[in-house]
Amino acid sequence: MPDLALRIARRIRREGPLSIAAFMAIALHDPDAGYYARHDPLGAAGDFITAPEISQIFGELIGLWCADLWRHLGEPQSVILAELGPGSGALLEDFLRAASVLPKFRRALDLCLVEASPVLRARQQRRLAGLGARFIADIDALPPGKLLLIANEFLDALPIRQLVRGRAEWAERLVALDDQDRLVFADGPENPATTLLVPPALRAQPQGTLVEICPPAAALAAALGERLVREPGTALFIDYGYYPSAPGGTLAALRRHAPVLVLDDPGGADLSAYVDFAAFAAAAGAAGAIVHGPVTQGRFLTALGAEARLAALSAGATKAQRGALESGLGRLIDPAQMGNLFKVLALTSPGLPAPAGFD
Ligand code: SAH
Repeated sequence: MPDLALRIARRIRREGPLSIAAFMAIALHDPDAGYYARHDPLGAAGDFITAPEISQIFGELIGLWCADLWRHLGEPQSVILAELGPGSGALLEDFLRAASVLPKFRRALDLCLVEASPVLRARQQRRLAGLGARFIADIDALPPGKLLLIANEFLDALPIRQLVRGRAEWAERLVALDDQDRLVFADGPENPATTLLVPPALRAQPQGTLVEICPPAAALAAALGERLVREPGTALFIDYGYYPSAPGGTLAALRRHAPVLVLDDPGGADLSAYVDFAAFAAAAGAAGAIVHGPVTQGRFLTALGAEARLAALSAGATKAQRGALESGLGRLIDPAQMGNLFKVLALTSPGLPAPAGFD
């Protein structure tokens, strides 16, 4: 058994079963053996691939989208550009290249990165050297000021809890040990307090139904909502997920682009779950943010002019480069690939016009 699995087993023997959220937090972020503590998931020998790694057009269009919002904010001389989970730094690099066509906008950007992984922090530092980016612990540590915040495939990495409908109430699915000390899923007792965690729209489901909730995503939405009421700005979230809320288990482990069992190799595989955009929107809206979307990634990128950008890039490209540009963008937009599953949601301060792509 790998070391981290042994440590988790020891802890369960001592303290009892763990919530799936507690298991995910250890598996992903344990400082010695957690997945993000040791791996570069996006490296050449990585475990998954994301939109900014597939096409430069993705980050470029987000850069121009933010430039438009900066105009709505009154072209301030300084605006915070925060990215949650910047990965390899590709999105930000493409963003800044596109932003440099508007030198006043580019000069105004105060870059703040939120990144849990020391491996990825080092990679971002190398890639973005000299661009004046700094790391902050979380959004509570953002400096005051007007805000543009972006996050691609960040929410899906946040720990979720799984709740199961019992006979009368809901129960929490836990990570426990079987009689041979292997990690297994086991349902805790039915409990009216657990029922209260289930989104009201999903409570009346048949026995055995599984529902996922993501408390850290709801907390982030609420904190951003409060901030956007206090200070003008916007936040853009792109991820795979569903809208409206839906039952079903989506927690999955990936290694080398292939699914593996969630409990098999804690720390060795990426863990993620679909984002419940309805729950995220509700939490942000309740805190006062104006919610736009979600719209599908395909529709969003098309509305932002993805095809025109492709044509412009293709004009100066070789035949092979043109093919790569086309298939990359196709992958992001095609409904059968990432175009429908991935969704885009924006939060803005009250009083700002609807951002591009959401009108
Ligand atoms: N946005 C990038 C990377 C997505 S992978 C891209 O699109 O390619 C998820 C990213 O979020 C990684 O950078 C990961 O290290 C970071 N991350 C995951 N959980 C985090 C947390 N709790 N706090 C800060 N960063 C986190």
